[in-house]
Amino acid sequence: MQITLHCKYCRKSLHVGYIVTGNKDEKVLQGLTMTCPVCHNKHPRAMSLHNITEGEFLKQTVGSKVFV
Ligand SMILES: [Zn+2]
Repeated sequence: MQITLHCKYCRKSLHVGYIVTGNKDEKVLQGLTMTCPVCHNKHPRAMSLHNITEGEFLKQTVGSKVFV
Protein backbone atom coordinates (compact mmCIF):
# COMPACT_ATOMS: atom_id res chain seq x y z
CA MET A 1 0.00 0.00 0.00
CA GLN A 2 1.24 3.47 -0.83
CA ILE A 3 0.12 6.59 1.01
CA THR A 4 0.36 9.86 -0.87
CA LEU A 5 0.79 13.25 0.77
CA HIS A 6 -1.46 16.16 -0.06
CA CYS A 7 -1.57 19.82 0.93
CA LYS A 8 -4.31 20.46 3.51
CA TYR A 9 -5.00 23.95 2.13
CA CYS A 10 -5.43 23.28 -1.59
CA ARG A 11 -5.65 19.46 -1.34
CA LYS A 12 -3.29 19.06 -4.29
CA SER A 13 -0.75 16.25 -4.41
CA LEU A 14 2.70 16.99 -3.05
CA HIS A 15 4.08 14.20 -5.24
CA VAL A 16 5.45 12.43 -2.20
CA GLY A 17 4.50 8.85 -1.49
CA TYR A 18 5.13 6.54 1.43
CA ILE A 19 5.16 2.76 1.13
CA VAL A 20 3.73 1.18 4.27
CA THR A 21 6.30 -1.11 5.87
CA GLY A 22 3.96 -2.82 8.34
CA ASN A 23 6.14 -1.79 11.28
CA LYS A 24 3.90 0.52 13.31
CA ASP A 25 6.80 1.82 15.42
CA GLU A 26 8.84 2.83 12.39
CA LYS A 27 9.33 6.60 12.10
CA VAL A 28 8.00 7.83 8.78
CA LEU A 29 9.63 10.36 6.46
CA GLN A 30 12.07 11.46 9.16
CA GLY A 31 13.77 14.73 8.39
CA LEU A 32 11.82 15.35 5.20
CA THR A 33 10.40 18.80 4.66
CA MET A 34 8.12 19.76 1.80
CA THR A 35 6.55 22.89 0.43
CA CYS A 36 3.38 23.05 -1.62
CA PRO A 37 4.14 24.12 -5.19
CA VAL A 38 0.55 25.29 -5.69
CA CYS A 39 -0.21 27.57 -2.74
CA HIS A 40 3.21 28.28 -1.26
CA ASN A 41 2.84 31.97 -2.12
CA LYS A 42 -0.42 32.15 -0.19
CA HIS A 43 0.60 29.88 2.69
CA PRO A 44 4.40 29.86 2.92
CA ARG A 45 5.30 26.96 5.19
CA ALA A 46 7.50 23.94 5.34
CA MET A 47 5.68 20.74 6.10
CA SER A 48 7.29 17.84 7.88
CA LEU A 49 6.27 14.72 9.74
CA HIS A 50 8.84 14.97 12.49
CA ASN A 51 8.81 12.04 14.92
CA ILE A 52 5.59 10.49 13.66
CA THR A 53 5.42 6.72 13.74
CA GLU A 54 3.79 4.68 11.03
CA GLY A 55 0.93 3.78 13.40
CA GLU A 56 0.14 7.47 14.03
CA PHE A 57 0.60 8.27 10.36
CA LEU A 58 -1.90 5.61 9.28
CA LYS A 59 -4.53 7.04 11.68
CA GLN A 60 -4.37 10.31 9.72
CA THR A 61 -5.04 8.72 6.35
CA VAL A 62 -8.19 9.50 4.39
CA GLY A 63 -8.49 6.66 1.93
CA SER A 64 -4.85 6.38 0.91
CA LYS A 65 -4.11 10.09 1.37
CA VAL A 66 -2.68 12.14 4.20
CA PHE A 67 -3.24 15.87 4.30
CA VAL A 68 -0.41 17.84 5.86
ZN1 LIG B 1 -1.26 23.76 -1.36
